[in-house]
Amino acid sequence: MPSNADSPLDLLWKEYGFGFRDFDDLTLARWMAQTLGQFGGKIWRLSHPLLGAYRLAAQLAYERQTWFKRLASPPPAYPESPCCRAPMLPLLTRDVRDAGLICQHCNETLLNFDEIPEPVRRDLEAWAAAYAPVHAVAHWDDAQQKSAGDYDRAFEQAAKDAERLLAQAGGQLARALIEFYPAVIWEDQDECLEVRPEDVTP
Ligand SMILES: [Zn+2]
Repeated sequence: MPSNADSPLDLLWKEYGFGFRDFDDLTLARWMAQTLGQFGGKIWRLSHPLLGAYRLAAQLAYERQTWFKRLASPPPAYPESPCCRAPMLPLLTRDVRDAGLICQHCNETLLNFDEIPEPVRRDLEAWAAAYAPVHAVAHWDDAQQKSAGDYDRAFEQAAKDAERLLAQAGGQLARALIEFYPAVIWEDQDECLEVRPEDVTP
């Protein structure tokens, strides 16, 4: 979900979220537990509509503290998250080196980077190190843009590189992570480089 609270996209997601407001606590808990069952053992794009729906439900459940009330049992494959005690559902993002894997229930760090097991941590480290300078192109200041000569071309090249790196995240890296977690979500876009989910094919 977008982080800028005033953006039109955020308002749209807020509107989508109204669909869940009529769910009572028990209905919400059961819907989430059942949907976690569908997620189990699989790799999911962040842009997947089912995941978008789940994230809206998760936000509401977090506000209502639904998981504390233990109204429905999540599938046994999901351990309790250390951050907010919701079932463990990690998201891999390009910020994995600094932020670790992100919780889909509270949006905080679910697991610190150094808690990710080897050897996948080493692969993630190399991947994040390759991604950082590519992503940085979107945020070059005027001087950096000028020194590049043709900034449009540099931007386009960076977007292409990001597509390739994101495909690697959704492919090889997510497959390595699913060995350790009940389900894995990967961020399949780079909004700063204008890379959309449909541009990324693992
Ligand atoms: Zn959490």
